[in-house]
Formats: sequence, structure tokens, C-alpha cells
Amino acid sequence: MISGPSGAGKGTLIKEVLPRLRDAELAVSATTRPMRAGEAEGREYFFLSEEDFARRVSEGDFLEHVRYGSYSYGTLRSEVEKNLATGRTLLLEIELEGARSVRKNARDAVSIFIRPPDFEELKRRLVGRDTEDPAEIEKRLERAREELASADEFDYIVVNDNVDRAADELERIIIDSLKGG
Ligand code: ADP
Ligand code: 5GP
Repeated sequence: MISGPSGAGKGTLIKEVLPRLRDAELAVSATTRPMRAGEAEGREYFFLSEEDFARRVSEGDFLEHVRYGSYSYGTLRSEVEKNLATGRTLLLEIELEGARSVRKNARDAVSIFIRPPDFEELKRRLVGRDTEDPAEIEKRLERAREELASADEFDYIVVNDNVDRAADELERIIIDSLKGG
């Protein structure tokens, strides 16, 4: 599980590290948030309407799901089951509450927290990414304070100061925890 506040660089680091890992894949979550430029249906997320998301919650399709900012996000059972069948390493990119709930149910899961160098830099990155309006950014920054205060719950903390350095560290952690487990 890879977690950390919005704008810390989770997506950037995963994109960098995923191609270097053999036999690993990223679970595609479902969300009700609008698709960003450059994203594709079924690649970054399965993009659902609030109605379809609620229906799939009631049908038991999610291992966990949360409200985050103004939208819903959830880990699909089907993604995890598909992966269990192949025996590949599954990466989940997931916020704090989701990580807590997966940790309870999958005790062998390894959790990694991606931390920005400091709060001001987090703000700069989130504003600079320019994918949310100011109100949504404000919600994410508020949530970030709680997430940053919970970093110690995670097995590892990677400070994303420099992409190349942090990606190397993340790769090493994943490879080493696979050897251990
Ligand atoms: P997250 O997936 O955690 O929300 P992103 O990967 O989208 O974060 O990164 C947020 C923004 O910060 C993006 O615009 C990205 O290009 C930029 N970014 C990521 N890592 C770094 C870094 N080490 N230094 C500077 N900018 C970064
Ligand atoms: P974003 O809108 O920036 O893609 O994602 C917002 C937050 O939702 C990020 O912290 C991301 O890790 C989290 N997230 C994405 N998918 C899931 C999921 O399936 N479950 C949970 N709990 N969080 C998710």
C-alpha cells in the first residue's frame, strides 16, 4: 500500500517504479471524481457516477471505500481477486482510512507513506498540478494535516524530495519486503 497526502508525489513515484518491478501491478480503483486531462477510463481509475458507485457498494463490490474531498474512491474486489489468481505483487495507491482498513484485513500487507519535504512544498505541488479548484485543494490540504500526523503508522516513510532518489528508495523497499515475505 502506498499512501500519503495528495500532492506528495505518489502517482509520480509509482509511474517511475512500476516499470522497474517484475511481476508487480497497480490495482485500478473506482472513483466518482471527474477524469483529469491525460487520464483514461480503466487505466488510472474506473470512473463511475455517484449512482453507480452507490449501487456497487450495496452489491459488495468494494474491499473498502471512502469519501475523500467531494468524491468517493474504492478498492474493487475484482482487481484484488484477479491479482491473487496470478500471484503477482499488487500495489494499492490508497488514502489513510483505506490503508487502515486494508491493514486490518491483510496483515501481510506492507505499507509505505510518501511524505513531502514540508507542508509549503506540498501546497506548491498541489497548486502547481492545477487539477483541482481552490476549494478542493483546501479540502485536500486540511486532510493532509491529519495524514501527515499519522505517518508513523506506516511500515516505511519515504520523503519525496527528489524524484530519482525517492523512486530508488521506494523500489528498494518493495524489493526488500518481497524477499522478506
Ligand atoms: P499524488 O499522486 O501524491 O497526489 P503527484 O504524483 O500527482 O501526487 O504529484 C503532485 C505534483 O508534484 C505533480 O505536479 C508532480 O509533477 C509534482 N512532483 C512530484 N514529485 C515531485 C518532486 N520530487 N519534486 C517536485 N515536484 C514533484
Ligand atoms: P486523486 O483524486 O488525487 O486521484 O486521489 C485522491 C486520494 O484518493 C489519494 O490519496 C489516493 O491515494 C486515494 N485513493 C485512490 N483510490 C483509492 C481507493 O480505492 N481507496 C482509498 N481509500 N483511497 C483511494
